[in-house]
Amino acid sequence: MPIRSAAVVGAGLAGLACARALAEAGVAVRVFDKGRSPGGRLATRRVEAEGRRLGFDHGAQYLTARGDGFGAVLAAHAVQWPEVADREGAHVGAPGMSALPRALAAGLDVAASRSVIGLSRDNDGWHVAHHAGDLARAPAPESPPERAGPFDAIAVAVPHPQAVPLLPAELSARLASVRVAPCWALLAAFAERLAAPDTLRPASGAIAWAARDSAKPGRSAEAECWVVHAGPDWSRAHLERKPDEVASLLLAELGALTGPLPAVLHGAAHRWRYALVEAPLGAPCLADAAAGIGACGDWCLGSRAEHAWDSGTALAKALLGS
Ligand SMILES: Cc1cc2nc3c(=O)[nH]c(=O)nc-3n(C[C@H](O)[C@H](O)[C@H](O)COP(=O)(O)OP(=O)(O)OC[C@H]3O[C@@H](n4cnc5c(N)ncnc54)[C@H](O)[C@@H]3O)c2cc1C
Repeated sequence: MPIRSAAVVGAGLAGLACARALAEAGVAVRVFDKGRSPGGRLATRRVEAEGRRLGFDHGAQYLTARGDGFGAVLAAHAVQWPEVADREGAHVGAPGMSALPRALAAGLDVAASRSVIGLSRDNDGWHVAHHAGDLARAPAPESPPERAGPFDAIAVAVPHPQAVPLLPAELSARLASVRVAPCWALLAAFAERLAAPDTLRPASGAIAWAARDSAKPGRSAEAECWVVHAGPDWSRAHLERKPDEVASLLLAELGALTGPLPAVLHGAAHRWRYALVEAPLGAPCLADAAAGIGACGDWCLGSRAEHAWDSGTALAKALLGS
């Protein structure tokens, strides 16, 4: 029987791809995300420091497409960033990376700040239990969860460890081989320009990548803004440290690469617990089309944003039976 309604859990790139494909096929779709806005790891943080407005893409740095599907997304909603010397066709959202998922979410019914805590099925269809806010950051409110539904189908589009408690056991059992590395990110702004090229990709040491975020096209930051990503080994070794400590350590590491740092206007660290896929599932998505449930995400195919897009598109097709 064709599906007429669906819930998508997660408004990252995979969830948005899935929701858009389902909506284009005439399905009434509701998307739930625990974050305040769509995008997941395609994220931009805006802060004010010392009277200046600053912006940092602290998740994905630049996007590339090898296939036509994601190529069309980048052509429509992103701009080229030619300064990434060793990557042809690098694109970014403008004025920040989060502009890309925002554009993709336009026209979709997205319920933001909703943590999905359970999925259940009865004779009417699937039901979604959800709480206000991000339960990973704040404790669950004392009020009982709200319920939405029934839906004919469910797409779970969250990092694989967060998918496990939501999926039926037969599907979650297949996630055992998937491995994802964490990443500590430093968001730093300086009073003066650093003596360094726009991007650094050291071959060894704590830092895997550093970029002058304020040099990306279309930015309006009022200072020299940098995003630094620690490598997987360093991030694992320091995973449970306090963000302030990590910010100090990574500032020192950056200084060791670039020479003495100018005055720091802003320095903060963000922990991405599930950042970069090291061992993917090896299939475009996970689906039980007969039961009307499946899962998607970059972790199905690889570590790039395009993998998330392709996975979400594949899950929509599987649920539609096409
Ligand atoms: C530091 C870093 C650097 C990267 N650099 C690049 C790069 O340069 N180029 C590139 O192509 N890719 C890069 N990536 C990878 C890229 O960001 C991801 O592949 C892609 O964004 C994953 O999309 P997704 O939809 O699969 O997952 P996510 O973006 O993680 O989306 C999942 C969504 O699910 C939501 N969610 C989770 N649990 C729940 C719940 N219980 N209820 C409701 N909502 C929930 C989350 O809030 C989130 O919005 C990078 C990632 C990181 C972290």
